[in-house]
Amino acid sequence: MTPKTDLRQGGCLCGAVRYEINIDRHRTGNCHCRDCQKNSGGAFMPFTSVDRGQFRWLSEPHGEGRASEAAIRRFCEKCGTPMTWEGRDYPNRISVSTGTLDDVSGVEISYEIYTRSRWPGIQPVPGVRQYEADGGE
Ligand SMILES: [Zn+2]
Ligand SMILES: [Zn+2]
Repeated sequence: MTPKTDLRQGGCLCGAVRYEINIDRHRTGNCHCRDCQKNSGGAFMPFTSVDRGQFRWLSEPHGEGRASEAAIRRFCEKCGTPMTWEGRDYPNRISVSTGTLDDVSGVEISYEIYTRSRWPGIQPVPGVRQYEADGGE
């Protein structure tokens, strides 16, 4: 089935990195894992994932980080913005840091993963699926 078209653009803080994404049938969720807490410097990271074919770089990031063999995290070398998460076990998917989208209207959180390391005081998003670890989404 061909995806419908809901084209958006996004980029890093300094503007050196830009991408285009078709968010039709995207999945967006908050990851509370320790890696994402460290990588973002915050409590959790919202990611929006789509099929590879629905994403393309307009200007690629030069930063590439690996905390383990499980995933590559691409980031802007100039300003440090975390851009994408690409998991070894999900070769046909790409996840972008949701906060880098220029326009997040209509992009709703539908699940939360690695809730076992959720910070005290951070409440679950009401009404969305909660997974102690990887939710396979
Ligand atoms: Zn940048
Ligand atoms: Zn994570």
